[in-house]
Amino acid sequence: MTALRRWRAPCKTQGCRGTVRSSFARLCFRCSARSRRHGDATLRKGITKRELEPFKREVLGLVLGSENRESIEQVLRDLHAHTRETLRANLGGTVWQRRGLAAALRVLNDPEVPALDVGATIAGVFLMRQREPKRFPSDRAFTFQLCRHFRKLSDVSYGRYWDTRSGSSQRMYKELRPQAVEVLGEVLVMAYARFAAQVLMSARHGKSAAEIRAQVDAAFATPEGSTPSP
Ligand SMILES: [Zn+2]
Repeated sequence: MTALRRWRAPCKTQGCRGTVRSSFARLCFRCSARSRRHGDATLRKGITKRELEPFKREVLGLVLGSENRESIEQVLRDLHAHTRETLRANLGGTVWQRRGLAAALRVLNDPEVPALDVGATIAGVFLMRQREPKRFPSDRAFTFQLCRHFRKLSDVSYGRYWDTRSGSSQRMYKELRPQAVEVLGEVLVMAYARFAAQVLMSARHGKSAAEIRAQVDAAFATPEGSTPSP
C-alpha cells in the first residue's frame, strides 16, 4: 500500500521549487534555514571575513592615515563607550530585546576588541554594500551580515564542540536567534550610522585617498556630536 503524500504549498522564495516545511510555514526547509542565518532566503552564502577584509582595511587606512587620526580614534572610543553605557542602562524589554542587547554588550565589554576595530568592521560592511550591492539583496540581509561580523570580532560569540572525526575540539560561531539579531542590528546602525555615512560619502564620489581623508578630517575636526543621539 502506498502512503499518499500530503500536498504542500510551494515555497514563497522566488525561484525555489521546494514545498513549505509545514502547513503553517511560508518557506521550505532550506529557505527558512537561510533566512534564519542570513536574514534572506535568497542568500545562499554570507560574507566571509576574508571578503570583508579589504573594505575594513580601507576604512582603517582612512582613519590611521588621517591628520586627525587622534580625534577620529577618540570619536570611535567615545562611540564605543557611549553605546555600551546606553545598552547597560536599557537592558530590559522583551526576551529578544534582552538577548540582542546582551549579545552586543558581550562584544563591547570584551577588552580584546578595540573600539577602532568595531568602527572599521561596521563601516567596512557599509562600504561593501555600496560597492557590491548584490551581496545584500535586502536591508534585512545587510543587518544580519553586519551583526555577524560585529559578533565575530569577539571570542565570546564562539563556543567549542568536540569533533569526533578529527578527534579535537573545534571552534563554532554561536548563532543568535533572528529576533535578537534584528534588535542588535538596530542598535549598531543607530550608533554607527554617522561614522559609516562619512566613510561612504567620501567613497561614493570616487575621490582620491587625499580628498577622502580631507573630508573625513573636516567631519571629525569638531569634537561636538561625538556621541550618537539616543
Ligand atoms: Zn525554498
